[in-house]
Amino acid sequence: MANRFFPNLMPDFVAETTTQTLHEEEEAVIVSDGDSLMKLLAMPYSSLSERLKRAALDLKETIVIETWGMTGQRISDFTLYCGVLGTAFLLFKSYNVTNNKNDLSLCSQIVKACDSASLGSRDVTFICGRAGVCALGAVVAKYAGDEKLLTYYLAQFEKIKLPTNLPDELLYGRVGFLWACLFLNKYLGQGTIPSTYTAKVVDEVIKNGRAVAKKGKCPLMFEWYGEKYWGAAHGLAGIMHVLMDMELKPDEIEDVKGTLKYMINNRFPSGNYPASEADRKRDVLVHWCHGAPGIALTLVKAAKVFGDKEFLDAAVDATQVVWNRGLLKRVGICHGISGNAYVFLSLYQLTGNLEYLYRAKAFACFLLDRAHKLINKGEMHGGDNPFSLFEGLGGMAYFFLDIIDPSQAKFPAYEL
Ligand SMILES: [Zn+2]
Repeated sequence: MANRFFPNLMPDFVAETTTQTLHEEEEAVIVSDGDSLMKLLAMPYSSLSERLKRAALDLKETIVIETWGMTGQRISDFTLYCGVLGTAFLLFKSYNVTNNKNDLSLCSQIVKACDSASLGSRDVTFICGRAGVCALGAVVAKYAGDEKLLTYYLAQFEKIKLPTNLPDELLYGRVGFLWACLFLNKYLGQGTIPSTYTAKVVDEVIKNGRAVAKKGKCPLMFEWYGEKYWGAAHGLAGIMHVLMDMELKPDEIEDVKGTLKYMINNRFPSGNYPASEADRKRDVLVHWCHGAPGIALTLVKAAKVFGDKEFLDAAVDATQVVWNRGLLKRVGICHGISGNAYVFLSLYQLTGNLEYLYRAKAFACFLLDRAHKLINKGEMHGGDNPFSLFEGLGGMAYFFLDIIDPSQAKFPAYEL
């Protein structure tokens, strides 16, 4: 277990210095022992943000070259998860931070190529399917002021048909499609995808959840490839997360709450969560996809939506697990340090507690100080797709850009 993550030796809190000389700032980059990390932790937020932004924008250039420029713009994987749509999503983020029009136009160009590459795809979600291409395409067209392109992508989105044998989870299933609808409504206006349309999909999810639960101890349960997962990517946490953004009937709300309470009551003594119903003994994974981080984000949202203290307390406990065991030997969003850091940001946004902001910042400082060195030394896994948004450096660049404005940071393609 210990070799999945670095022991977190960073202090529980470090106060920021108010002023810093240029010399001290430069030293923080040049010195490469443990001291440089401490200096980053104490740096004023504005100086650190500037440094993170610089690192992210440099990284973005490399990611564009590696995933787009050097491929001859031929697409082997169009998805947001590990493919080139992830690069487009990073460019959209970068545009929102810097207002650099080149990022928006390159983003639009990549989405266009993804559109051609995904025409025959049967995958329908935002993260792994065609809905991500059409939804991002529509939003980027709106930002670029291209009405014709906006109409085109919305028409393409409307053509997406959900197969009857679709699973319900986030990466390949119904709630992954619903999330694309929420994304469109957020950026293009409520009602862009009418609730009469999404309600049918929600009904199906609830019906399936109740059927698999079979009136057991947990009101809703789902299967993906024969496993009853709990985490954000394939299981209960991801499904409940999206359902909480949909219009639900009172009995459905009770089922969502009951499902979350079932998970809280059956977590590991450590505060971490099993990956699935069958996997109740292996307290190992502390990832967004499986384990406490993804579930913590859902619990923070439940605390926000329902106001129950039980959800907030459980979110705080799960967040402690992420601080202790979440400094993973990977950089990415799905199962890496960058994704885990969003748990602290989410709890900071809900509570205003600066200790959580510090923890997110500490994870960012650790990455800024060490990620490249540790990857080069082979002590950190560079990822099977080393420049991708969900498994690679794309996720780290995205996180660095996001934490510049911590009150607005959102886990990419998951938090709205
Ligand atoms: Zn993962």
